[in-house]
Amino acid sequence: MPSLIDEMIDGIASALDGVHGKRLFLQIPEGLKTYTKRIVSFLEGAGNDVFVYVTPCFGACDIPVDEAKLLGADMIVHLGHNKFYKHVTDFPVVYVPISIPIDVDDKKLHSLPKRVGILTTVQHLKYIDKIKDALLRAGKQPIVGGQILGCWTENAKKIEHGVDCFLYVGSGTFHPTALRTEKPVFVYDVEKNELIDASDLVRREEMKRYARIEKFRSCKSVGILVSTKLGQFNITGAIALKNELESRGKKAFIFVSNIIKKEYVMGMGVDCLVNTACPRIVDDDFGVPIVNLEDAILAMGDENESVEKRR
Ligand code: SF4
Repeated sequence: MPSLIDEMIDGIASALDGVHGKRLFLQIPEGLKTYTKRIVSFLEGAGNDVFVYVTPCFGACDIPVDEAKLLGADMIVHLGHNKFYKHVTDFPVVYVPISIPIDVDDKKLHSLPKRVGILTTVQHLKYIDKIKDALLRAGKQPIVGGQILGCWTENAKKIEHGVDCFLYVGSGTFHPTALRTEKPVFVYDVEKNELIDASDLVRREEMKRYARIEKFRSCKSVGILVSTKLGQFNITGAIALKNELESRGKKAFIFVSNIIKKEYVMGMGVDCLVNTACPRIVDDDFGVPIVNLEDAILAMGDENESVEKRR
């Protein structure tokens, strides 16, 4: 089996086939930064100049176009993710997803219900047939959903009606807790090689969400969070929400940052926060209640288009 770095170099070589003598702005996810020297050597060996962006990057939503232009870069090389589900930029970006091989033990899958919807992350997408085969060996009926993100689960929704449960194959529970489903959710953790029933966890996340919405209803002053990361940026939705809240007698402020953290907004004295950026920010503790924009709209009972959910 090829090593991870060899897989990466192969992926970069094929994605950048024919790219020589360019100024490249390289973006590497946190977990892969230890491979930076090898990757840069490879790209420089092909006659390119390489600048490495060391600001943390957690997803394909985060493409640093302004910085790339400032550097006079010809293109951004974004490692670890495929193209974001919504349009981020017209600036040249080469996405190089990294595949991580997995083993799935079919003996651990016998307890699953019959019709199993398969979900995974971009890192294991190439190996989805291995998951399917393991389920078949366990006597199940696999239905491939495909990739999900922490903020995007359309591939689960499209198969939900035809499955008895979902099986997420990956590490941890960040991605499966993005699911909003009545169906049981199982996680096959590829690092621990174990099957976990995550249904209660998914239900608890949903209950926490409704508890946050209830708190939002009674707040008087609101900080609206806007991220300048291109895939998360939603100033239109933030302004519309501010106008709507103020027409209802609340006071609203728009807080803008590239990275959104508790320490950047604490002390602002607002009763609660509404997040227009990465929807998983609300998983963190901000010291005051925090809801996503769509839930603020839900709480206001306003499902018309007066407050845009999307830019
Ligand atoms: S918006 Fe959040 S969950 Fe979605 S890709 Fe970006 S960092 Fe990940």
